[in-house]
Amino acid sequence: MIREADDELTIFERSRAGRRAFVAPSLDVPERPLDELLAPALRRAEPPRLPEVAEPEIVRHFTRISKRNFDLDTGFYPLGSCTMKHNPKLHERIAALPGHAHLHPLQDPARAQGALELMWRLQQALGELAGLPHVSLHPSAGAHGELAGVLLTRAFHEDRGEHRSKVLIPDTAHGTNPATVTMGGYHVVAVGTDTQGNVDLDDLRAKASDDVACLMLTNPSTVGLFETGIEEIERIVHGVGATLYYDGANLNAIMGISRPGDMGFDIVHFNLHKTFTQPHGGGGPGAGPIAVSERIEPYLPRPQVVRRGGGSDEADAVYDLDYDRPKSIGRLRGFQGNYGVFVRSYAYIRSLGAPGLREVSEIAVLNANYLLAKLRQEGVLEYLPAAYDRLCMHEFVLSGAPMKRELKIRTLDLAKRLLDFGVHPPTVYFPLIVDEALLIEPTETETKETLDRFAERVAAILREAREDPEIARGAPHTTPVRRLDEAGAARRPVLRQRF
Ligand SMILES: *Cc1c(COP(=O)(O)O)cnc(C)c1O
Repeated sequence: MIREADDELTIFERSRAGRRAFVAPSLDVPERPLDELLAPALRRAEPPRLPEVAEPEIVRHFTRISKRNFDLDTGFYPLGSCTMKHNPKLHERIAALPGHAHLHPLQDPARAQGALELMWRLQQALGELAGLPHVSLHPSAGAHGELAGVLLTRAFHEDRGEHRSKVLIPDTAHGTNPATVTMGGYHVVAVGTDTQGNVDLDDLRAKASDDVACLMLTNPSTVGLFETGIEEIERIVHGVGATLYYDGANLNAIMGISRPGDMGFDIVHFNLHKTFTQPHGGGGPGAGPIAVSERIEPYLPRPQVVRRGGGSDEADAVYDLDYDRPKSIGRLRGFQGNYGVFVRSYAYIRSLGAPGLREVSEIAVLNANYLLAKLRQEGVLEYLPAAYDRLCMHEFVLSGAPMKRELKIRTLDLAKRLLDFGVHPPTVYFPLIVDEALLIEPTETETKETLDRFAERVAAILREAREDPEIARGAPHTTPVRRLDEAGAARRPVLRQRF
C-alpha cells in the first residue's frame, strides 16, 4: 500500500481558513437580526473552532479512519460474553425506512400506531422466550436492565413492608452485576464456585438469609456452563423470600430450549445487541429490555406499551402508552427506548421465527464445542487447558497459566499476537476466578473453516513462542497502533486535547 505523506494528519491540521465542504442555499425568507432570534447571552463569545475542509477531504479522512478499526465485517471476533454475531444487512435497510428513522419521539401515540405495534410485538416475543409474560423495553443496555431489576426488587420488598440489605452474586459474575447492586443501594455478597464450575450450593445455603433481597445469576454462567443445580438454587433463594434475577447476556445459548421463567426466575434482562443482533463493538446504542413475573409486574417502569381491544380481530387493536401504573418505579430514561435497536431485533426474530431461534442456540453451542475440540486436537489445551472440563454451552474458558509458565508468554501476549492475523482476541482476564483467563465465544454465524483457522492460528502462535517468546510479547506488529499502555489509559486519562 502506498501511504500518503499526510496520512496521519488530524482533520484540524487539514483545515484552511475559508475552505468549505458545503454551501448553504441562498436565503428565501425575510432576513431578521440575530439578536431577535437568539439572545446574545445565549450565544458564544467567539465562533467555535471547527475544521474548514473540502468535501473530498472529509470523505477521505473518515473513510481512512474507519478502515483502521477492527470490526465484525472484517474478521472473526470471538469476544466471550459479548456475542459478536453477524448483523444481517437487511436490518439496516428496515431500520432506515423513513417511517422508522424519521419518527419523532414525541409523536402522539395515535399517529405512531405502527411503531407501538412493533414494540408490543417485540415485547410478546421476548416474554415468550423468557417464559415471563410482562416486558418493559425501557432499559438501554444490559447494565441498565440490571438496575431496573434491582429497583424492581426493592419496590417488591418494600411494598410488603420488608427492608432487605444484601444481594447475592456468584464470584464468576460480570462486573456490571456488583456495580449495579451497589448503585441500587444494596451490599454485594459473593457466592463461591465449586470445582465443577457451578454455584457452590453449600456456600449459597450459608449466605441465603432473610436479609437477602435477590440472587443475581447468569445462566449459562460466564464460564460457559449451565448451572446443573438451578432447581435447588431456586428453592434456596425463594425459600428465604428473595427474588431471582437472571442476567440474560448468555441467552444466545438457550433460546427455544430452556426458559428463565421456567427455571423460577422473577426478572430477566435481554441484551438485544448481543442475542438479537445490533452492531455493538463501538459502544453504540443497545437495549436491555426486562421480562418479569406476575408478582413483579405492578412495579414495571412507566409508561408501558399496551394493546387495547382487538380481541380475535387484530384490525381493531389500538396501541397506546399506559401511564396509569401507581406502583411503578417510574421512568428509567427519556422517551420510549432505543427504537432503532427494537426494529433490528424484531426483524431478526421475525425472519428466523421460533424454529430459527432455537437453531441459532443449537449451532452456537455446537460451534463452541467444536472449537474446543479442535483446539484440543491442535494440542493447544496442553498449554491452555479448559478451566472446567465439561460440555460447554455457547462459550468456554481456557486458562493460560501453563502457557505463561512454560512458554513465557501471557494471555495478553497471545491476544495481541492474534491481532497481527486479523482476528479480534477473545475476552481476556475474565472471568476473574480463572488464572490468565481466555473466554472464547465463536457464535453461530461463523463457518467451520473460520473456526479451524482460528485453532490453527493459536497453535502456530504457541509454536512460535516456543522458539521466540519476544515476538508475541512485542505484538501487535502490523496494526496502526502498537501495544497501548492500557493501565495508563485507565489511570491517567487525557480527556481534553487542544489542537
Ligand atoms: C455484556 C454483559 C453485561 C452487561 O451488558 P451491557 O449491555 O454491556 O450493559 C452483563 N452481564 C454479562 C454476563 C454480560 O456479558
